[in-house]
Amino acid sequence: MKTTPDACDVAIIGGGAAGLAAAQALGRSRRSVVVIDAGEPRNAPAAGVHNFLTRDGLPPRELLALGRAEAEGYGVRFRDARATATRRDDAGFGIELDDGRQLLSRRIILASGVSDELPEVAGLAAYWGKNALHCPYCHGWEVRDRDIAVLDSAFAVHQALMFRQLSDRVTLFTAPERELDPVEREKLEARGIGIVPREINAVRGNDTHLTHLLFRDGADRAVDALVVMPHFAAGVSALSGVGLEATVHPSGIGTYVVTDETGKTEIPGLWAAGNIRDPMAQVVMAAADGLRVGAMVNADLIQEETDAAVAALRIGAVAEVGSGR
Ligand SMILES: Cc1cc2nc3c(=O)[nH]c(=O)nc-3n(C[C@H](O)[C@H](O)[C@H](O)COP(=O)(O)OP(=O)(O)OC[C@H]3O[C@@H](n4cnc5c(N)ncnc54)[C@H](O)[C@@H]3O)c2cc1C
Repeated sequence: MKTTPDACDVAIIGGGAAGLAAAQALGRSRRSVVVIDAGEPRNAPAAGVHNFLTRDGLPPRELLALGRAEAEGYGVRFRDARATATRRDDAGFGIELDDGRQLLSRRIILASGVSDELPEVAGLAAYWGKNALHCPYCHGWEVRDRDIAVLDSAFAVHQALMFRQLSDRVTLFTAPERELDPVEREKLEARGIGIVPREINAVRGNDTHLTHLLFRDGADRAVDALVVMPHFAAGVSALSGVGLEATVHPSGIGTYVVTDETGKTEIPGLWAAGNIRDPMAQVVMAAADGLRVGAMVNADLIQEETDAAVAALRIGAVAEVGSGR
């Protein structure tokens, strides 16, 4: 049986902090809004959200449940599904969901975040977001004064210096082929950061926490936390039908979607908010970005509707003159 697609002013792909904040701004502006959400926010592996003023330590999914309930209060509708494909014609966007449903919308806000592709270290994924970490603002305080190892990467020296602010027991384990830049080595030595030329190729731990590093030469070492640098990947396959592509981020941290400062992409009617356009944004920044982009999309719709109303008014005036009234 063929179902009639739902129609709305704005479809938001992704119901994390960015998507929910955009949804709330648009719902409060009396726009019809549908949020499509696959339910896998980036910080889900972490126990709590930190550096979100008034919500410090709240489990990530609880924060989103609160945001969803607020948005629903303004008439925002939710589809617990994944957007898989999008096309565009004169009437707007048609979006296919993985549950077989479809959606028609005048605008899309892509707020689908990024995925963290972890370095190849056996066993690491089980501890990601627990005590396998990347961000001192997300979980640095939780490992203060602990024995912290840093896995080599293009960002490892920076990360070691950041985590040194939290503990005086920080060690950088460098890959065998790595020649540390003398200036970087001097900085690490000046801050009392250990430098050990030994390649970590696996980790092990208990049910909740990583406890040991395993080196390629067969040795191991106990540790309290491991700092790693994932590749931040912006998934845009659901929008490839309208020509959206991800771009390599200038910092080298991964890929993202290029927009102007208002969140508008190069594809007419398609906007982006949150980590997908700013992979470094924390939760509160993603929420702020969602609000900003939601407001910009509302303004864009108001302009379109006003232009249409003015054109209709002029046609009406011309018709009146033509009919001699
Ligand atoms: C381990 C870890 C811990 C972190 N801890 C903190 C912290 O303590 N404090 C902090 O401020 N920041 C933290 N961050 C950063 C935080 O995760 C991001 O700032 C935040 O998730 C960005 O929000 P977002 O809405 O842009 O994306 P997300 O939160 O990732 O939400 C995107 C949503 O879109 C959905 N989605 C993706 N593709 C589709 C699709 N095709 N169709 C439908 N839905 C889709 C996803 O399932 C997800 O629900 C942490 C990050 C990590 C990796």
